[in-house]
Amino acid sequence: MTEGGARSAPWQTCTIAEIVQQTSTIKSFFLRLSEPFAYIAGQHVDVRLTAPDGYVAMRSYSIASAPSSANVIELAIERLADGEVSPFFHDIAAVGDEIELRGPLGGHFLWPERSTAPVLLIGAGSGVVPLMAMIRQRRALPQTVPTALLVSSRTHRDVLFADELFSLEMTDRTFKLALAITRETPSRVGDFARRIDSAMVTELIARLHHMPGHVFVCGSNPFVNIAADGALMAGLDASVVKTERYGG
Ligand SMILES: Cc1cc2nc3c(=O)[nH]c(=O)nc-3n(C[C@H](O)[C@H](O)[C@H](O)COP(=O)(O)OP(=O)(O)OC[C@H]3O[C@@H](n4cnc5c(N)ncnc54)[C@H](O)[C@@H]3O)c2cc1C
Repeated sequence: MTEGGARSAPWQTCTIAEIVQQTSTIKSFFLRLSEPFAYIAGQHVDVRLTAPDGYVAMRSYSIASAPSSANVIELAIERLADGEVSPFFHDIAAVGDEIELRGPLGGHFLWPERSTAPVLLIGAGSGVVPLMAMIRQRRALPQTVPTALLVSSRTHRDVLFADELFSLEMTDRTFKLALAITRETPSRVGDFARRIDSAMVTELIARLHHMPGHVFVCGSNPFVNIAADGALMAGLDASVVKTERYGG
């Protein structure tokens, strides 16, 4: 799918079916689509809010749910205190509200569903969202392609989808999870007590037992720069590293 083709996706109205507080700053919004669409894990949607005076605000949000989850998609939105759209979702939006949305969008940050090459996923904060969709798609297919997820987080409580990730790590020996906890002591053996660096990426590659054929990095601009540099310094080729930047 091309970005240009995806941009022609029509606007539709969806209904907020459920809201779940995931961390202190991130809530999941389960949206019932009026026009269900097929998508690949890693893609996003555009959301459009229109004020009574006609003012329009539009933002992109990655889809967190696996494509197999039919006509309800999950978005996980981080509340930025000085933001415009994310505080609306956190403080005002309610179950039953209607939201304008178009998608799927994005043609480069896609789960490589036909590849058997090992995958390394690196994310921070809400940047875990498209990576979670990939992990969920991998599990739903099902696939056993060796996959590692490295999550950077200030504290354990800030790790998005932590319970689901811990549970998958326990049941799937081909899935490796490592946390880089920057503001408290890691409680799990094998987790790291510092920001992501090339030595950490090298260690994750060792745990995968293979050089990854695909690397996906997602989060704020500063985070993506550091993590992508770490991947390159760990010896990964730039051609296998794909990034998705959320701003900041
Ligand atoms: C393809 C794509 C997918 C995205 N998916 C998600 C998602 O799944 N969940 C999610 O919460 N956000 C996601 N974003 C970010 C989202 O589109 C908005 O930028 C974000 O919600 C802030 O919007 P706002 O109106 O609240 O703040 P604004 O008023 O637009 O911006 C406030 C400031 O925060 C900066 N900013 C935006 N995002 C971040 C960030 N992650 N970290 C630090 N600073 C930031 C902006 O650059 C700006 O300076 C995605 C962005 C892109 C481009």
